[in-house]
Amino acid sequence: MKNSNLLKDLEKCVRCGSCKAYCPTYDEAGTEAMGARGRLILLRELMLQRLKPTPVLNDKIFSCILCGACAGLCPGNVDITEDIYRGRKILRQSDKKRRYLRVLAKFFVQRPALTFRMSQILQYIAFPYLVKKGFIPSNFSLPEVPFKDGHQVYKVSKPRGRVAIFTGCSINFLYPHLGVSLINILLKAGYEVVVPSGEVCCGMPLRTLGMEDEAIELAKKNVRIFGKLKVEAVLSLCPTCVLALKNQYPKMIGKGINAAMDVSSFLLDKLDLHQLSLISKRPATVTYHDPCHLMYGLGVKRQPRELLKTIGINVLEKKQEGCCGFGGLFSLSYRDISNRLLQKQTGSHSETGAGTIVTACPGCMMQLSKAGKDRPVFHIIELIEEAYCGSNEL
Ligand code: SF4
Ligand code: SF4
Repeated sequence: MKNSNLLKDLEKCVRCGSCKAYCPTYDEAGTEAMGARGRLILLRELMLQRLKPTPVLNDKIFSCILCGACAGLCPGNVDITEDIYRGRKILRQSDKKRRYLRVLAKFFVQRPALTFRMSQILQYIAFPYLVKKGFIPSNFSLPEVPFKDGHQVYKVSKPRGRVAIFTGCSINFLYPHLGVSLINILLKAGYEVVVPSGEVCCGMPLRTLGMEDEAIELAKKNVRIFGKLKVEAVLSLCPTCVLALKNQYPKMIGKGINAAMDVSSFLLDKLDLHQLSLISKRPATVTYHDPCHLMYGLGVKRQPRELLKTIGINVLEKKQEGCCGFGGLFSLSYRDISNRLLQKQTGSHSETGAGTIVTACPGCMMQLSKAGKDRPVFHIIELIEEAYCGSNEL
Protein backbone atom coordinates (compact mmCIF):
# COMPACT_ATOMS: atom_id res chain seq x y z
CA MET A 1 0.00 0.00 0.00
CA LYS A 2 1.49 3.32 -1.07
CA ASN A 3 1.08 6.38 1.14
CA SER A 4 -1.61 7.74 -1.19
CA ASN A 5 -3.50 4.45 -0.83
CA LEU A 6 -3.09 4.64 2.92
CA LEU A 7 -4.67 8.09 2.95
CA LYS A 8 -7.47 6.86 0.69
CA ASP A 9 -8.18 4.00 3.07
CA LEU A 10 -8.11 6.32 6.08
CA GLU A 11 -10.57 8.64 4.35
CA LYS A 12 -13.11 5.82 4.12
CA CYS A 13 -13.54 6.13 7.89
CA VAL A 14 -16.84 7.82 8.79
CA ARG A 15 -15.94 7.87 12.51
CA CYS A 16 -18.87 5.74 13.63
CA GLY A 17 -16.81 4.17 16.42
CA SER A 18 -17.95 0.55 15.84
CA CYS A 19 -14.32 -0.55 15.77
CA LYS A 20 -13.88 0.39 19.43
CA ALA A 21 -16.36 -2.22 20.65
CA TYR A 22 -13.77 -4.88 21.53
CA CYS A 23 -10.55 -2.87 21.38
CA PRO A 24 -8.53 -4.04 24.40
CA THR A 25 -6.33 -0.94 24.64
CA TYR A 26 -9.37 1.35 24.49
CA ASP A 27 -10.99 -0.73 27.22
CA GLU A 28 -7.93 -0.40 29.39
CA ALA A 29 -7.02 3.24 28.80
CA GLY A 30 -10.50 4.64 28.18
CA THR A 31 -9.23 7.40 25.91
CA GLU A 32 -10.12 7.91 22.27
CA ALA A 33 -6.51 7.94 21.09
CA MET A 34 -5.96 4.46 22.55
CA GLY A 35 -8.75 2.99 20.45
CA ALA A 36 -9.01 1.98 16.80
CA ARG A 37 -10.92 5.08 15.63
CA GLY A 38 -8.64 7.50 17.46
CA ARG A 39 -5.54 5.93 15.99
CA LEU A 40 -6.92 6.23 12.47
CA ILE A 41 -7.78 9.89 13.02
CA LEU A 42 -4.23 10.55 14.23
CA LEU A 43 -2.79 8.77 11.21
CA ARG A 44 -4.98 10.78 8.85
CA GLU A 45 -3.87 14.04 10.42
CA LEU A 46 -0.28 12.87 10.10
CA MET A 47 -0.73 12.03 6.43
CA LEU A 48 -2.30 15.43 5.79
CA GLN A 49 0.67 17.00 7.59
CA ARG A 50 -1.56 18.63 10.15
CA LEU A 51 0.25 16.68 12.87
CA LYS A 52 3.92 15.86 13.24
CA PRO A 53 5.39 12.72 14.76
CA THR A 54 5.98 13.17 18.49
CA PRO A 55 6.72 10.60 21.21
CA VAL A 56 3.09 10.87 22.37
CA LEU A 57 1.63 10.35 18.90
CA ASN A 58 4.04 7.48 18.23
CA ASP A 59 2.98 5.85 21.45
CA LYS A 60 -0.67 5.83 20.43
CA ILE A 61 0.12 4.12 17.14
CA PHE A 62 2.65 1.65 18.57
CA SER A 63 0.40 0.72 21.50
CA CYS A 64 -2.07 -1.03 19.20
CA ILE A 65 -1.76 -4.77 19.90
CA LEU A 66 -2.66 -5.55 16.28
CA CYS A 67 -5.01 -8.15 17.69
CA GLY A 68 -7.54 -7.58 14.91
CA ALA A 69 -10.58 -7.36 17.21
CA CYS A 70 -11.59 -4.25 15.27
CA ALA A 71 -11.01 -5.74 11.83
CA GLY A 72 -14.39 -7.21 10.99
CA LEU A 73 -16.47 -4.49 12.63
CA CYS A 74 -16.01 -1.63 10.20
CA PRO A 75 -19.04 -0.97 7.95
CA GLY A 76 -16.79 0.85 5.49
CA ASN A 77 -14.20 -1.95 5.22
CA VAL A 78 -11.35 0.21 6.42
CA ASP A 79 -8.32 -2.08 6.66
CA ILE A 80 -7.54 -0.93 10.19
CA THR A 81 -4.62 -3.18 11.12
CA GLU A 82 -2.97 -2.74 7.72
CA ASP A 83 -3.27 1.05 8.12
CA ILE A 84 -1.57 0.78 11.53
CA TYR A 85 1.28 -1.29 10.06
CA ARG A 86 1.74 1.32 7.31
CA GLY A 87 1.58 4.15 9.82
CA ARG A 88 4.31 2.51 11.86
CA LYS A 89 6.51 2.26 8.80
CA ILE A 90 6.19 6.03 8.38
CA LEU A 91 6.84 6.70 12.07
CA ARG A 92 9.78 4.33 12.40
CA GLN A 93 12.48 6.98 11.99
CA SER A 94 11.01 9.25 14.63
CA ASP A 95 10.24 6.47 17.09
CA LYS A 96 13.23 6.39 19.41
CA LYS A 97 11.49 4.48 22.21
CA ARG A 98 11.76 1.17 20.36
CA ARG A 99 15.13 1.67 18.71
CA TYR A 100 16.89 -0.97 20.84
CA LEU A 101 14.08 -3.45 20.21
CA ARG A 102 14.64 -2.90 16.48
CA VAL A 103 18.36 -3.57 16.84
CA LEU A 104 17.67 -6.75 18.80
CA ALA A 105 14.95 -7.93 16.41
CA LYS A 106 17.22 -7.39 13.41
CA PHE A 107 20.11 -9.20 15.08
CA PHE A 108 17.82 -12.13 15.89
CA VAL A 109 16.36 -12.57 12.39
CA GLN A 110 19.81 -12.33 10.84
CA ARG A 111 21.48 -14.72 13.31
CA PRO A 112 18.76 -16.80 14.99
CA ALA A 113 20.97 -19.77 15.87
CA LEU A 114 23.63 -17.55 17.42
CA THR A 115 21.00 -15.59 19.38
CA PHE A 116 19.59 -18.87 20.67
CA ARG A 117 23.00 -20.09 21.83
CA MET A 118 23.76 -16.76 23.49
CA SER A 119 20.37 -16.80 25.22
CA GLN A 120 21.01 -20.32 26.48
CA ILE A 121 24.20 -19.16 28.14
CA LEU A 122 22.69 -15.96 29.50
CA GLN A 123 19.41 -17.46 30.71
CA TYR A 124 20.77 -18.30 34.17
CA ILE A 125 21.58 -14.64 34.76
CA ALA A 126 18.86 -12.97 32.74
CA PHE A 127 15.79 -15.14 33.35
CA PRO A 128 15.42 -14.45 37.12
CA TYR A 129 15.32 -10.75 36.24
CA LEU A 130 12.83 -11.32 33.40
CA VAL A 131 10.61 -13.41 35.71
CA LYS A 132 10.74 -10.68 38.38
CA LYS A 133 9.76 -8.07 35.79
CA GLY A 134 6.88 -10.25 34.60
CA PHE A 135 8.20 -10.86 31.08
CA ILE A 136 8.36 -14.67 31.27
CA PRO A 137 6.76 -17.41 33.43
CA SER A 138 8.71 -18.51 36.51
CA ASN A 139 9.10 -22.10 35.30
CA PHE A 140 10.35 -21.22 31.82
CA SER A 141 13.73 -22.33 30.48
CA LEU A 142 15.07 -22.68 26.97
CA PRO A 143 15.18 -26.13 25.37
CA GLU A 144 18.51 -27.85 24.85
CA VAL A 145 18.20 -27.87 21.08
CA PRO A 146 15.91 -26.11 18.59
CA PHE A 147 13.29 -28.03 16.65
CA LYS A 148 14.78 -27.57 13.20
CA ASP A 149 17.89 -29.35 12.04
CA GLY A 150 18.43 -28.69 8.35
CA HIS A 151 16.06 -30.06 5.74
CA GLN A 152 13.96 -32.81 7.30
CA VAL A 153 11.62 -35.24 5.57
CA TYR A 154 9.62 -37.74 7.61
CA LYS A 155 8.40 -40.61 5.49
CA VAL A 156 5.62 -43.15 5.96
CA SER A 157 4.80 -46.19 3.87
CA LYS A 158 1.89 -45.58 1.46
CA PRO A 159 1.40 -41.88 2.38
CA ARG A 160 -2.11 -40.49 2.03
CA GLY A 161 -0.66 -37.05 1.44
CA ARG A 162 2.27 -34.72 1.95
CA VAL A 163 2.36 -31.64 4.15
CA ALA A 164 4.99 -29.12 5.19
CA ILE A 165 5.50 -27.48 8.55
CA PHE A 166 6.22 -23.78 8.88
CA THR A 167 7.94 -23.98 12.23
CA GLY A 168 8.03 -20.32 13.27
CA CYS A 169 10.54 -18.93 15.76
CA SER A 170 8.54 -19.68 18.92
CA ILE A 171 8.17 -23.39 18.15
CA ASN A 172 11.73 -23.66 16.88
CA PHE A 173 13.45 -21.97 19.81
CA LEU A 174 10.99 -21.94 22.71
CA TYR A 175 8.64 -24.92 22.44
CA PRO A 176 10.20 -27.52 20.11
CA HIS A 177 8.28 -30.35 21.83
CA LEU A 178 5.09 -28.98 20.24
CA GLY A 179 6.62 -29.43 16.80
CA VAL A 180 7.45 -33.03 17.71
CA SER A 181 3.84 -33.60 18.80
CA LEU A 182 2.59 -32.30 15.46
CA ILE A 183 4.93 -34.58 13.52
CA ASN A 184 3.85 -37.61 15.59
CA ILE A 185 0.20 -36.91 14.80
CA LEU A 186 0.79 -36.33 11.10
CA LEU A 187 2.86 -39.49 10.72
CA LYS A 188 0.26 -41.57 12.52
CA ALA A 189 -2.41 -40.07 10.25
CA GLY A 190 -0.36 -41.27 7.26
CA TYR A 191 1.19 -38.01 6.04
CA GLU A 192 4.70 -37.53 4.78
CA VAL A 193 6.03 -34.42 6.52
CA VAL A 194 8.56 -31.92 5.18
CA VAL A 195 10.32 -29.40 7.40
CA PRO A 196 12.28 -27.42 4.82
CA SER A 197 15.57 -25.70 5.51
CA GLY A 198 15.87 -22.02 4.77
CA GLU A 199 12.66 -20.92 6.49
CA VAL A 200 13.09 -17.52 8.12
CA CYS A 201 11.03 -15.58 10.67
CA CYS A 202 7.55 -14.85 9.29
CA GLY A 203 8.45 -11.15 9.63
CA MET A 204 5.61 -10.06 11.91
CA PRO A 205 7.79 -8.95 14.84
CA LEU A 206 9.68 -6.66 12.45
CA ARG A 207 6.50 -5.41 10.86
CA THR A 208 5.02 -4.46 14.22
CA LEU A 209 8.13 -2.34 14.80
CA GLY A 210 7.64 -0.51 11.49
CA MET A 211 10.49 -2.42 9.81
CA GLU A 212 8.45 -3.05 6.69
CA ASP A 213 11.34 -3.34 4.21
CA GLU A 214 13.11 -5.96 6.32
CA ALA A 215 9.83 -7.86 6.82
CA ILE A 216 9.29 -7.85 3.04
CA GLU A 217 12.67 -9.50 2.50
CA LEU A 218 11.71 -12.27 4.92
CA ALA A 219 8.31 -12.72 3.27
CA LYS A 220 9.94 -13.12 -0.15
CA LYS A 221 12.32 -15.80 1.18
CA ASN A 222 9.52 -17.81 2.79
CA VAL A 223 7.32 -17.61 -0.30
CA ARG A 224 10.27 -18.79 -2.41
CA ILE A 225 10.99 -21.77 -0.16
CA PHE A 226 7.44 -22.93 0.54
CA GLY A 227 6.18 -22.11 -2.95
CA LYS A 228 8.52 -24.77 -4.38
CA LEU A 229 7.18 -27.59 -2.21
CA LYS A 230 4.58 -29.91 -3.60
CA VAL A 231 2.41 -30.22 -0.51
CA GLU A 232 -1.30 -30.09 0.19
CA ALA A 233 -0.91 -27.84 3.25
CA VAL A 234 1.67 -25.73 5.04
CA LEU A 235 0.85 -26.14 8.73
CA SER A 236 1.89 -23.98 11.62
CA LEU A 237 1.24 -24.15 15.34
CA CYS A 238 1.45 -20.37 15.55
CA PRO A 239 -1.63 -18.47 14.28
CA THR A 240 0.42 -15.31 13.76
CA CYS A 241 2.65 -17.15 11.29
CA VAL A 242 -0.38 -18.52 9.42
CA LEU A 243 -1.97 -15.08 9.31
CA ALA A 244 1.25 -13.63 7.94
CA LEU A 245 1.81 -16.31 5.30
CA LYS A 246 -1.76 -16.39 4.10
CA ASN A 247 -3.25 -12.93 4.59
CA GLN A 248 -0.46 -10.43 5.11
CA TYR A 249 2.12 -11.49 2.53
CA PRO A 250 -0.28 -10.72 -0.35
CA LYS A 251 -0.58 -7.17 0.99
CA MET A 252 3.18 -6.88 1.44
CA ILE A 253 4.56 -8.55 -1.67
CA GLY A 254 1.51 -9.35 -3.78
CA LYS A 255 1.79 -13.07 -3.15
CA GLY A 256 1.15 -15.33 -0.18
CA ILE A 257 1.36 -19.00 0.71
CA ASN A 258 -2.17 -20.13 -0.08
CA ALA A 259 -1.66 -23.59 1.38
CA ALA A 260 -0.91 -22.12 4.83
CA MET A 261 -3.37 -23.46 7.35
CA ASP A 262 -3.86 -23.59 11.07
CA VAL A 263 -3.44 -27.00 12.60
CA SER A 264 -6.90 -27.33 14.22
CA SER A 265 -8.72 -26.81 10.92
CA PHE A 266 -6.48 -29.30 9.12
CA LEU A 267 -6.71 -31.98 11.80
CA LEU A 268 -10.46 -31.68 12.24
CA ASP A 269 -10.82 -32.24 8.52
CA LYS A 270 -8.28 -35.07 8.17
CA LEU A 271 -8.11 -37.09 11.37
CA ASP A 272 -10.23 -40.12 11.95
CA LEU A 273 -12.34 -38.67 14.75
CA HIS A 274 -13.85 -42.00 15.67
CA GLN A 275 -10.36 -43.26 16.41
CA LEU A 276 -9.64 -40.11 18.40
CA SER A 277 -12.60 -40.53 20.71
CA LEU A 278 -11.83 -44.21 21.21
CA ILE A 279 -8.26 -43.58 22.20
CA SER A 280 -8.92 -40.65 24.54
CA LYS A 281 -8.17 -41.85 28.07
CA ARG A 282 -8.18 -38.78 30.22
CA PRO A 283 -11.35 -36.71 30.04
CA ALA A 284 -10.86 -33.42 31.78
CA THR A 285 -12.48 -30.06 32.17
CA VAL A 286 -10.68 -27.10 30.66
CA THR A 287 -11.27 -23.57 29.45
CA TYR A 288 -10.16 -22.69 25.96
CA HIS A 289 -8.43 -19.40 25.23
CA ASP A 290 -8.97 -18.08 21.68
CA PRO A 291 -5.74 -16.60 20.29
CA CYS A 292 -6.58 -13.24 18.65
CA HIS A 293 -4.90 -14.02 15.33
CA LEU A 294 -6.68 -17.35 15.10
CA MET A 295 -10.13 -16.08 16.10
CA TYR A 296 -10.22 -12.57 14.61
CA GLY A 297 -7.56 -12.97 11.94
CA LEU A 298 -8.33 -16.43 10.55
CA GLY A 299 -11.91 -16.84 11.78
CA VAL A 300 -11.11 -20.15 13.50
CA LYS A 301 -13.13 -20.65 16.66
CA ARG A 302 -15.24 -23.78 16.29
CA GLN A 303 -12.53 -26.23 15.17
CA PRO A 304 -10.36 -26.37 18.32
CA ARG A 305 -13.45 -26.74 20.50
CA GLU A 306 -14.74 -29.59 18.33
CA LEU A 307 -11.40 -31.35 18.49
CA LEU A 308 -11.32 -31.05 22.28
CA LYS A 309 -14.87 -32.33 22.57
CA THR A 310 -14.01 -35.26 20.33
CA ILE A 311 -11.23 -36.39 22.65
CA GLY A 312 -13.59 -36.34 25.61
CA ILE A 313 -12.62 -32.98 27.04
CA ASN A 314 -15.29 -30.78 28.54
CA VAL A 315 -14.76 -27.16 27.53
CA LEU A 316 -16.19 -24.54 29.90
CA GLU A 317 -16.68 -21.17 28.22
CA LYS A 318 -15.44 -18.09 30.04
CA LYS A 319 -17.61 -15.01 30.20
CA GLN A 320 -15.15 -12.59 28.72
CA GLU A 321 -13.33 -13.16 25.45
CA GLY A 322 -10.32 -11.09 24.61
CA CYS A 323 -6.61 -10.63 24.22
CA CYS A 324 -4.29 -12.19 26.82
CA GLY A 325 -2.02 -9.14 26.50
CA PHE A 326 0.90 -10.88 24.83
CA GLY A 327 0.82 -9.36 21.35
CA GLY A 328 4.45 -10.34 20.67
CA LEU A 329 6.60 -7.32 21.37
CA PHE A 330 3.60 -5.43 22.79
CA SER A 331 4.05 -7.20 26.13
CA LEU A 332 7.60 -5.84 26.33
CA SER A 333 6.75 -2.23 25.44
CA TYR A 334 3.45 -1.88 27.32
CA ARG A 335 3.90 -4.07 30.38
CA ASP A 336 1.19 -2.41 32.49
CA ILE A 337 -1.57 -2.77 29.93
CA SER A 338 -0.33 -6.25 29.05
CA ASN A 339 -0.48 -7.34 32.71
CA ARG A 340 -3.94 -5.89 33.21
CA LEU A 341 -5.23 -7.75 30.15
CA LEU A 342 -3.62 -10.94 31.44
CA GLN A 343 -5.29 -10.52 34.85
CA LYS A 344 -8.64 -9.96 33.19
CA GLN A 345 -8.31 -13.16 31.16
CA THR A 346 -6.97 -15.32 33.98
CA GLY A 347 -9.77 -14.03 36.22
CA SER A 348 -12.26 -15.01 33.56
CA HIS A 349 -10.70 -18.47 33.21
CA SER A 350 -10.78 -18.95 37.03
CA GLU A 351 -14.47 -18.08 37.23
CA THR A 352 -15.30 -21.18 35.20
CA GLY A 353 -13.75 -23.42 37.86
CA ALA A 354 -11.69 -25.34 35.27
CA GLY A 355 -8.24 -26.31 36.43
CA THR A 356 -6.56 -26.23 33.02
CA ILE A 357 -6.31 -23.73 30.19
CA VAL A 358 -5.92 -24.86 26.60
CA THR A 359 -4.94 -22.55 23.78
CA ALA A 360 -3.59 -22.81 20.25
CA CYS A 361 -0.77 -20.27 20.19
CA PRO A 362 2.72 -20.45 21.69
CA GLY A 363 2.62 -16.72 22.54
CA CYS A 364 -0.65 -17.08 24.48
CA MET A 365 0.85 -20.13 26.23
CA MET A 366 3.81 -18.09 27.37
CA GLN A 367 1.63 -15.21 28.55
CA LEU A 368 -1.07 -17.27 30.30
CA SER A 369 1.61 -19.38 32.04
CA LYS A 370 2.87 -16.23 33.75
CA ALA A 371 -0.24 -16.26 35.93
CA GLY A 372 1.11 -19.18 37.98
CA LYS A 373 1.61 -22.90 38.14
CA ASP A 374 -1.77 -23.64 39.76
CA ARG A 375 -3.52 -23.61 36.43
CA PRO A 376 -1.42 -25.41 33.80
CA VAL A 377 -1.60 -24.14 30.22
CA PHE A 378 -1.43 -26.53 27.26
CA HIS A 379 -1.21 -26.08 23.53
CA ILE A 380 -4.06 -28.03 21.97
CA ILE A 381 -1.59 -30.12 19.97
CA GLU A 382 -0.30 -31.72 23.20
CA LEU A 383 -3.77 -32.99 24.08
CA ILE A 384 -4.47 -34.24 20.59
CA GLU A 385 -1.18 -36.13 20.60
CA GLU A 386 -2.10 -37.68 23.94
CA ALA A 387 -5.42 -38.86 22.54
CA TYR A 388 -4.28 -39.87 19.08
CA CYS A 389 -0.82 -41.26 19.74
CA GLY A 390 -1.15 -42.20 23.40
CA SER A 391 1.69 -40.03 24.74
CA ASN A 392 1.83 -36.98 27.03
CA GLU A 393 -0.18 -36.67 30.21
CA LEU A 394 -2.72 -34.04 31.08
S1 SF4 B 1 -5.93 -4.14 16.44
FE1 SF4 B 1 -6.71 -4.50 18.53
S2 SF4 B 1 -5.64 -3.01 19.83
FE2 SF4 B 1 -5.35 -2.35 17.69
S3 SF4 B 1 -6.97 -0.88 17.32
FE3 SF4 B 1 -7.75 -2.87 16.64
S4 SF4 B 1 -8.83 -3.73 18.43
FE4 SF4 B 1 -7.54 -2.02 19.17
S1 SF4 C 1 -15.66 1.21 12.32
FE1 SF4 C 1 -14.66 1.89 10.42
S2 SF4 C 1 -15.78 3.75 9.85
FE2 SF4 C 1 -16.30 3.34 11.99
S3 SF4 C 1 -14.76 4.53 13.15
FE3 SF4 C 1 -13.91 2.48 12.91
S4 SF4 C 1 -12.67 2.59 11.06
FE4 SF4 C 1 -14.00 4.39 11.06
